[in-house]
Amino acid sequence: MNKEAIKYERQRDEMVRHQIKSRGIKDPNVVAALRTIPRHLFVSEALRDQAYGDYPLPIGEQQTISQPYIVAEMTQALDLHKDDRVLEIGTGSGYQAAVLAEIVFRVYTIERIRALYIQARNLLDKLHYHNIVMRCTDGTAGWQAESPFDAIIVTAGAPEVPAKLLDQLAEGGRMIVPVGNQHSQDLIKIIKDKRGVHKSNLGGCRFVKLIGAQGWKEKRTD
Ligand code: SAM
Repeated sequence: MNKEAIKYERQRDEMVRHQIKSRGIKDPNVVAALRTIPRHLFVSEALRDQAYGDYPLPIGEQQTISQPYIVAEMTQALDLHKDDRVLEIGTGSGYQAAVLAEIVFRVYTIERIRALYIQARNLLDKLHYHNIVMRCTDGTAGWQAESPFDAIIVTAGAPEVPAKLLDQLAEGGRMIVPVGNQHSQDLIKIIKDKRGVHKSNLGGCRFVKLIGAQGWKEKRTD
């Protein structure tokens, strides 16, 4: 391992100790994924030394890579099993997709901004994540052809739970989605079973907007 890799491995260990385990993340698969994945490669070179900090970072196109703790909290809330098929809406940098891919059989992820999609696809290919399938389109419509999914994670803030995503959740499936206004949201966990849909509120959060047919409308510039 070169000097730089050792430096970042040390920062990753500290991040896991001080931001993840100490705040109650217990799922060993989630902890292992955060300890393994080179998060510094998911941000621009200028931001690499901040990659393991306790905050989100810009990734271009006015979008962000989420704070490590929120990635861990949302992943743990999905109660993942190794043969699960998971849908993510909002690929962004690809980091959350990599975390999921370390844990489950297959990850389907959708990003609406082409530049981010291409950047994430190139990086995830380079890191040999062969169990991640990607599309560049409006993810609020889900991915009908591959549904139903055992788990769905939305990593952008929605005005309400997108109905099509709920339809594409399997019986026994879990979904996590930030719902609220454009400035702050609640992290909503949904469990679907034979009797219907059960929602719980995991607390406040702040995400960039989910933009699309079942999200916020894109602001017109003309
Ligand atoms: N999961 C990402 C990561 O690990 O870097 C962070 C996601 S960032 C907070 C939210 C992403 O959702 C942005 O990249 C944004 O372009 C994307 N997004 C917003 N609305 C979308 C939609 N309707 N379909 C797909 N992606 C969308």
